[in-house]
Amino acid sequence: MLKIYSRSEVAKHSSENDLWIIIDTHVYDMSRFIDMHPGGSFPILEVAGKDATDVFYGLHKQDVLLKYDRYKIGTIVNETPQVTFNEAGDLSKVPYAESSFWMGFKSPYFNERHTQFRIAVRKILDSMKTEARELEDSGERPPDAFVQKLGAVGLLAANIGPDAVKGIALPGGIKPEEYDYFYEMIVHEEFARWSCPGLNSGVLGGMTISVPTIINFAKPELKAKTLPLILSGKKRMALAISEPGAGSDVASIKTTAKISSDGSHYIVNGVKKWITTGCFADYFSTAVKTGGGISMLLIERTEGVETRHIKTSSGSSAGTAYVTFENVRVPIGNLLGVENHGFKVVLSNFNHERYIMLCGASMAARLVVEDCFKWANQRQVFGKRLIDQPVIRNKLAGMIAQVESMHNWLENLTYQMNHMDYKEQSIKLAGPLALCKYQITRMLHNVSDDACQIFGGRAITKTGMGRNVETLQRTYKFTVRVLTF
Ligand SMILES: Cc1cc2nc3c(=O)[nH]c(=O)nc-3n(C[C@H](O)[C@H](O)[C@H](O)COP(=O)(O)OP(=O)(O)OC[C@H]3O[C@@H](n4cnc5c(N)ncnc54)[C@H](O)[C@@H]3O)c2cc1C
Repeated sequence: MLKIYSRSEVAKHSSENDLWIIIDTHVYDMSRFIDMHPGGSFPILEVAGKDATDVFYGLHKQDVLLKYDRYKIGTIVNETPQVTFNEAGDLSKVPYAESSFWMGFKSPYFNERHTQFRIAVRKILDSMKTEARELEDSGERPPDAFVQKLGAVGLLAANIGPDAVKGIALPGGIKPEEYDYFYEMIVHEEFARWSCPGLNSGVLGGMTISVPTIINFAKPELKAKTLPLILSGKKRMALAISEPGAGSDVASIKTTAKISSDGSHYIVNGVKKWITTGCFADYFSTAVKTGGGISMLLIERTEGVETRHIKTSSGSSAGTAYVTFENVRVPIGNLLGVENHGFKVVLSNFNHERYIMLCGASMAARLVVEDCFKWANQRQVFGKRLIDQPVIRNKLAGMIAQVESMHNWLENLTYQMNHMDYKEQSIKLAGPLALCKYQITRMLHNVSDDACQIFGGRAITKTGMGRNVETLQRTYKFTVRVLTF
């Protein structure tokens, strides 16, 4: 039960064993916390019995207050807090923290249904954010319950696009027939707000880039057998194209598939490298050589399939794998598309893959801009807030301009995807998507660089205020890699 205190009453509790402080009109009893404070007891003793609002916000994120809410004992009489707390699902009030439509501007693309959807998705993902961040930090395999929770609310299929959500209940009461690429864009952006690139790769990465090969190229029986399992999270899937000797140059892969003497199976031998989600995958959509060219096969994890973890800059929960296939028997019916014409499957798949990365990258940068805005307003140096320095405002303006430009291009590309069938997209959008990906990587580089200047030491500190900035500067180069395909 919270009580009402005067400031003079709080001032009486200023010793190490009886230590109260005020943060934004709320009174906290820190006596039991002082020995647990990650920054040591000294900074708290300095503000014992006093108003610690400026000192607190100069060093911490607001989330810290939510975490330690149990130490709150009351409020100051006749005073109103200045800082408001975001509830799960709330849109941010920080300038440019949301894209244009959600900052109150008109849009030819979005309407209130999209807002309904975004808020519903954000509520779900906000409620899973703490667990997501723990998994990211520990590098664990994303647990079945976690993945299946997303599957149950339609948020696995929603990552793959309009063709994947048929018959699936979606957040916010959105009907599958309404679901277009603008809804999909929202989904990628909302997942990016976790700022857990490793976990996102492990849960969604492999699946989102590989499932389209089933949707667009598998025989009906194979589709019916595998899709419901994957989209509900009961089985996991990866795309296995790259090899140690063949990355950009896909045509030079060496993995072979030879037809068995009874004609019922392909026998696959070879290795694949950097396969996202590979460590956890039950299915691998795999590029193989079949004599007359490249073919794509859906390979189940079975005898002869081995995966080993490869450590990369993002967390281990990405499950990035070195995969070996040794005399693996794959039923003939698992061929995706036409034998020796698998290159078409590979190339057409890359467009959507690029698109997913673009949406995630755009939001990752926006999130960092939001953090920079907050930090520049909170942090006092040489007696002034950072934002009072013209050079900092100049950096923020440059970052915002770049994020907004890229986002606008992305909205245009999303519109094109909405008005082209899969074949037309495959023909027309490879160039623009690749160029947009090139430019967005430049934008990430610049935003990350400026954010590091604004955040100082915290930009390379994994916990605390700079978490999102540290994550971006460590991982933004991931957006580059698929361009080389
Ligand atoms: C974290 C991570 C996850 C990945 N996930 C997957 C996955 O799930 N599935 C999968 O199949 N693969 C995956 N990959 C592999 C990725 O697609 C390859 O790394 C990429 O295709 C580049 O291949 P490479 O690394 O062998 O570079 P290379 O092909 O050796 O290229 C090296 C450099 O040369 C440049 N280059 C290439 N060709 C030319 C040219 N003609 N002219 C000028 N420059 C050129 C490239 O841009 C690149 O910068 C992943 C990689 C990473 C790092």
